[in-house]
Amino acid sequence: MPRFFVTKENIQGGKAILGGAELEHMRKVLRLRPGDQVTLFDDGGWEHEGVIQSCTSQAGEIELLRSYQPGRESALEITLAQALGKGEKMDLVVEKATELGVQTIVPFLSSYTVPRLDGRRVERRHGRWGKIALSAAKQSGRTRIPRILELDTFETLVGKPWPCELKLLFWEGEPVQTIQRVQEEWPRLRSVLLAIGPEGGFTAEEVEQASRQGFRAIHLGKRILRAETAALAAVSIIQFLWGDMG
Ligand code: SAH
Repeated sequence: MPRFFVTKENIQGGKAILGGAELEHMRKVLRLRPGDQVTLFDDGGWEHEGVIQSCTSQAGEIELLRSYQPGRESALEITLAQALGKGEKMDLVVEKATELGVQTIVPFLSSYTVPRLDGRRVERRHGRWGKIALSAAKQSGRTRIPRILELDTFETLVGKPWPCELKLLFWEGEPVQTIQRVQEEWPRLRSVLLAIGPEGGFTAEEVEQASRQGFRAIHLGKRILRAETAALAAVSIIQFLWGDMG
């Protein structure tokens, strides 16, 4: 069943109105027509089954037949801070992190970040990540689209008062701390921030700086993982231990 996103304000009196890119997707890409069945999800955690009533280039009107809260969102709030990498690596991280149930993604720059993008390129990429997150949310049956925050510098990232119970910085040089050890201390967890470095890794000074701000350095085993592998492994393990992948 094709899924589309609609904001709550576009749902009224048992009907939903679709516009913009979602309408394009429905009409042009999937070529759906009046009478076709669709699933919608809104920004309040609800999913709706409905039938297209009318569909023009301006708006699609969908009659809602059934609304329910599917409960596919993890109770664990995961914020993934990912250093900007080369090429399209961030695209992959955004897509997969969305499938894995991350709620917030924070791209950041650090000392060894390779691409130094200008403002316009960052804006373009940010727009693309938003589209990727929406598309992955639709495909994976999520009812929340992850927020993608503005690009941070490492300093602002580690200095911000994140509303997270635990802040973990993944560092291959950490000698002892593992996720499992942290779990022994924190059997229950509702919110966590994970920071993953760029291809060049974090500098020792950055690790220091983060730990002064309450981050814990964590290792993910003895092999060096690519940044995107580290991000997706960390999210999976954390969702398994404290979230809804167990
Ligand atoms: N250039 C570094 C590796 C960077 S890997 C080197 O060769 O030493 C990119 C990022 O993935 C790191 O900054 C870290 O956040 C994460 N990462 C990769 N392997 C890891 C491991 N074994 N433990 C913890 N974090 C890891």
